[in-house]
Parts: sequence; structure tokens; C-alpha cells
Amino acid sequence: MSDIFYDLETKELLDLTLEDQASAIRALHFSVGVTWCECHKEQIFYRADAMGDHILLHERMIGFSSRQFDNAVLAYNYVWTRLETPPVKEEKRAAPKKIDKVEIPAQPEDLKRVFDARTFDLQIDLENRVGYRLSLNALAQGTLRREKQGTAALAVIWYRLAAQLKQKYAYALREANDHEGADRAHELGAYYQARLERYCATDVQLVRQVFEYGAQNRRVFFVDFDGERRNIKVDWR
Ligand SMILES: [Zn+2]
Repeated sequence: MSDIFYDLETKELLDLTLEDQASAIRALHFSVGVTWCECHKEQIFYRADAMGDHILLHERMIGFSSRQFDNAVLAYNYVWTRLETPPVKEEKRAAPKKIDKVEIPAQPEDLKRVFDARTFDLQIDLENRVGYRLSLNALAQGTLRREKQGTAALAVIWYRLAAQLKQKYAYALREANDHEGADRAHELGAYYQARLERYCATDVQLVRQVFEYGAQNRRVFFVDFDGERRNIKVDWR
């Protein structure tokens, strides 16, 4: 079975106070996505359609909180991207309607169902076992003795800084003949972009390592609200 681990970031922060979380998630814009699989290793994506096409080459998608969040963002952004920008010539993964025998539905909710059907969501699996939702950080701390490198809020800030510095400010400075300033703005933008990509890639690795630990040891650990390390039996394979 070919597995792919994945995570993505968005341009806006999800407003957790909104009652209809599902529609709030559907409205988010994709900023960057990372996948890891044995066959292709790490891949970074700047377009949801390219990421979706790549993911569908694999039989099982393994993520964290991915059914509710990543799959919705991916499906809606996949369809928007296709509608807004016809596939460009230089794009390596040009846009076939069929990916590895998978028919790509035209409607985002149908595409989300295609993703959901092949998704193994660690958060949901563990919630079914312990009765409440765990954070990736609690699992990474308990199982791997590692911590997440940032937050969703930071990822949004990094994205905005990267985009504005590279596009808006570097361009404006160059137009005004400040070439050194433009280069500096561009460099700083690239620095924030790299942090964003590392953050996303690190989460993919945390999910992968937690999954592999659980599959091998038939248990994972998390740190609970009182700081106690607790274990959960799993039957992952
Ligand atoms: Zn692969």
C-alpha cells in the first residue's frame, strides 16, 4: 500500500469563534503544502491542484486533523485554482482530468469525498480511542519528545510577510530605483517563506514519525493537561 503524509497551510487564520466551522474552513486559501512519501520523498507545493494531483497517485493519505481541515481546503482550492488559472505550459504536472485512474470530480464537495475515502486521520483515530481530541503537539511531545516548531497563527504571519516583501515591497523599491533595498526586501521575504515551508514540512515529519512509532510499537504517547505522559494502544499498520 502506498502511503503519503501531508499537511498544508492557509493564507488566513481559521476563526474558531464562527459557528459553522466547515464553511469557514472551505473559505480559506491555500498558501503552501508539503507531502512525504517513500516513492517521491518530500515535495513542496504552491498550488492546491498540483498537490491534489500528486496526492492522488498514492493509495492512502495520512494526516492529522486532515479530514475536516486539509481535505476541505485542498478540494475547494483545487477546484478554484483550476477555474481561475488554466494550466500553464511550463507547469510540469499539467492538469489531467484523471490521475492514476482516479476521476477528478468537478465539484469540490465530491473531490473532498474522494480525498476523505482514502484518508487515515490520526486525530480522529485517537479521538475514537481516548474520547477527546489530542493536539499534534501533545502527541509529538509524548511519543517523540519533540515539539512543534510554530503555530497556525505564525504560519499566516510568515505567509503574509513573505508575499508582501517579495511582491509588493521589493517591486516598489525597484521601481523607485532602490535596488539594494529591493534585494534586501526580497531576501527577507524568502527567509519568511522558508520558515513557513519548514514549519509545514516539520509537521508532516511529526505525523509520519508518530504514525511509524505507533505502527511499530502498537502504542503512542501524549502529554495530558497535567503534564503527565500517557499511552494509547493503537493497531495501526
Ligand atoms: Zn510518492
